[in-house]
Amino acid sequence: MEGIDLKLTNKVALITGATRGIGLAIAEKLLEANASVIITGTSQESFSKTNNTLIKYGNRVSFLDVDLGNDQSFFQFLEKIKTMKIDILINNAGINRIDLSHEVKEEDWDLINKINLKAPFRIIQTVIPSMLQQNFGRIVNISSVFGTVSKSKRISYSTTKFGLHGITKASALDYATKNILINTVSPGFIDTELTRTILSSEEIAELVALVPMKRLGSVYDVANAVLFLVGPLNTFVTGQDLIVDGGFTCG
Ligand code: NAP
Repeated sequence: MEGIDLKLTNKVALITGATRGIGLAIAEKLLEANASVIITGTSQESFSKTNNTLIKYGNRVSFLDVDLGNDQSFFQFLEKIKTMKIDILINNAGINRIDLSHEVKEEDWDLINKINLKAPFRIIQTVIPSMLQQNFGRIVNISSVFGTVSKSKRISYSTTKFGLHGITKASALDYATKNILINTVSPGFIDTELTRTILSSEEIAELVALVPMKRLGSVYDVANAVLFLVGPLNTFVTGQDLIVDGGFTCG
């Protein structure tokens, strides 16, 4: 678009869980837009696998390892980021647990809540002071269509993904006058390595049949939605949920 600079030059983005899948695609999109990105993963080894994709961006990419389910690792991570200039935060890392409601183990419930819900909240709390200081911030929380509808055996996952909407809306209102825009992006069925590993081609075909657009989403479908929300074209959208699902939740 003529006249509008769509680049994110001099912006620093922190993206959790960006060694693969949706997080990695978001990192690529933000790097293409000229941002610097700090990506997280659970280990240096998982980052090494990412290097082929991101090496061409040189020192605009850095890596922090953190296990969001481990108190000590998470505390050290928060200590590191609290002194950093972070303009854009993408709370992307998340895990899934599949159990009938009465069979969910308390330790699994606690772990998924810690990683998918408490960690995004604590990271937001930690980066907000520097965003307030610079009078600029963009935050996107990655939820899921299972934060709008649900499915059997998804009680733990759905609880955390519904909860993220509360975090988004309440925090968006806290900072609406401070040029800090906070939104959710909710992917539908996305074609990731994990999807291909855990589902047979018949199961994938069944999923595709449920999607009005008759295909799985790509990681870049999701990353483009994130890019819009954190980029210069978003001037007035805050506290919202952008559902990227090919129409799945419309029916
Ligand atoms: P993924 O391929 O499973 O990747 C997960 C990322 O999170 C990896 O970078 C992983 O790091 C990191 N991670 C895993 N456990 C962690 C922990 N305990 N602490 C810190 N980081 C951890 O994920 P994805 O499928 O791209 O999903 C990304 C987000 O989108 C999640 O929030 C998910 O719920 C949501 N989502 C996905 C889909 C889908 O179809 N894929 C649909 C709807 C919503 P390592 O590489 O080090 O393990």
